[in-house]
Amino acid sequence: MNLNHIPILDHHAHPLLRPEAVQTAVSFQQWFTESTHPATHQHHVPHSLFFRTGIKWLAELLGCEATITAVLAARAAVPYAEWSHRLFNDANISMVLCDYGYSTADSYTPTTFPALLPCPVHPILRLETYFQELIVAHPRFDNALEVFVTTLRRARADGYVALKSIIAYRSGLDIAPADKAGAEVAYNSLHAEAQRNGRVRLAAKPLCDYLLWLAAEEAARQSLPLQIHTGFGDEDADLRTANPLHLRPLIAQTKANLVLLHMGWPFSRETAHLAALYPNVWLDLSLAIPFATTGIPALLREVLGMAHHSKIMFATDAFTMPDIFWLAARWGRWGLSKVLDELISEGFLSAQEAEETAVSILHRNAQTLYPISKGIN
Ligand SMILES: [Zn+2]
Repeated sequence: MNLNHIPILDHHAHPLLRPEAVQTAVSFQQWFTESTHPATHQHHVPHSLFFRTGIKWLAELLGCEATITAVLAARAAVPYAEWSHRLFNDANISMVLCDYGYSTADSYTPTTFPALLPCPVHPILRLETYFQELIVAHPRFDNALEVFVTTLRRARADGYVALKSIIAYRSGLDIAPADKAGAEVAYNSLHAEAQRNGRVRLAAKPLCDYLLWLAAEEAARQSLPLQIHTGFGDEDADLRTANPLHLRPLIAQTKANLVLLHMGWPFSRETAHLAALYPNVWLDLSLAIPFATTGIPALLREVLGMAHHSKIMFATDAFTMPDIFWLAARWGRWGLSKVLDELISEGFLSAQEAEETAVSILHRNAQTLYPISKGIN
């Protein structure tokens, strides 16, 4: 199957970095790994399949030699917005839902990022980083909470299309019952820390858990999907507590639609099972695609075998460079078409059913789930 004609609704991604931040080989290479170690960026990334294939594919597109030096020179010769438009158009990405909470001083913002893309961009509200700002600003827990709840209540009206939690990175997915008194004790010590340092990292479990319950309640009230990071990420995530099976009490008690991000990799079987079992659980494929590279078809074959195809959604989880969006889209279409071809030849799906499945995964399921007024073209 060729899936290039089916548009992608990229329901989970992040803003780009200014091109100056990725001009050298190492600063470009570092985004082909989840590792934050300079030695890995410099010495080992060039030996990964993701990077090697990325350089080959980009060189084909640019018409240059397949080396990092030639690719960097060729892409630097194209104005950045033009390069970005070219990649997004070629990847046939028709909409991006963007979490701006993952950003640095070099990142484009909600006002500057959309101009770089040829498609609409809608914002996602990242809970923990937003609440960190409130800890710095408010001495009293009750005041911070009031602002947080007011923002959550207005989220959909303010144009947010989803909420997003990175609690897996902070205190893990084994969410305890809401404990307001425990949350307040944690808040007070974090505010004191914020006063000393001018900033703070929210990782106190009673507070993280309490905020997530509040967010789930608001997500349910507004029919706003709640994206939850599950499984792997950078080394900040402790995989032992990032298994989505920990989420069972939340899944069972909330009426919110929960989008379990990253296939929960390496717990993709567990994630597929949860999506198959609970009507309010959705399975996102991002990050595992593209990072699993040649392993993508095996993952997809298992997930498609277990979970309902109406619950599976492709996304890039790309950030930093338009090249990563393009590469993730290419790896995703490659893996999906390979698996669907197998399912057709084995007699499990007709060609038309396979096409319908691809449409569902690449955009229709997300289009149905998220409050996107205009849809995609
Ligand atoms: Zn992400």
